[in-house]
Amino acid sequence: MESLKNLLTEISITAQKYQRPLDKIKLVAVSKKQPVEKILQALQFGHFDFGENYVQEALEKMEIVNNPNVRWHLIGPLQKNKVNKIIGKFFLIHSIDTFDLAKEISQKSEKQKIVQPVLLQVNLASEISKSGFSKQDLLNKWKELQSLDGIFIQGLMTMPPLDNSEIYFEELFNLAKTLHLKELSMGTTSDWPLALKHGATYIRIGTAVFGERE
Ligand SMILES: *Cc1c(COP(=O)(O)O)cnc(C)c1O
Repeated sequence: MESLKNLLTEISITAQKYQRPLDKIKLVAVSKKQPVEKILQALQFGHFDFGENYVQEALEKMEIVNNPNVRWHLIGPLQKNKVNKIIGKFFLIHSIDTFDLAKEISQKSEKQKIVQPVLLQVNLASEISKSGFSKQDLLNKWKELQSLDGIFIQGLMTMPPLDNSEIYFEELFNLAKTLHLKELSMGTTSDWPLALKHGATYIRIGTAVFGERE
């Protein structure tokens, strides 16, 4: 896990550079399309946060890894009809992209008497290829979203255009501030230092931790 070790060092140097307290920055090691062995290696190394994109793949890995200390993060699109399968299994769902999905998770969580921590995904650049609330839509629905029981909205997530991410990181920071939200999930292998600069509390890094995906 040389790569993980080096990345953690770089993160701490970068945090210092931008005067960000290190205890407010969590690395989500994105293990999608990576073999379970690599997750186990990272666990051995003492890393417990893993990000998965696909429900089926995540559930299979959870069963194999079978470690209650692991914090699983769902960072990929979630279909409403799969909500039942995942309730209570993820430490944090980063990818709530519609009001209907939030409502579905809310209802299913209430039934099971749990509260699911979530982030709302925002599609700031209005890219057709990506999901997420538009900024306006999020603001319009904010009161209703806040009134949902069974979910705890901790913050915002975004996946901006690669060539221009910094202005969107800044925009997400400002939006979270307006809504008094604490957590900001932003930044991947290619742009995480800029995300840290603009207040990221979760950075989601795959390739730089585990190498190229299968
Ligand atoms: C795959 C993925 C990542 C990690 O991307 P890398 O470039 O491998 O660091 C982060 N966030 C989301 C939403 C992803 O789908």
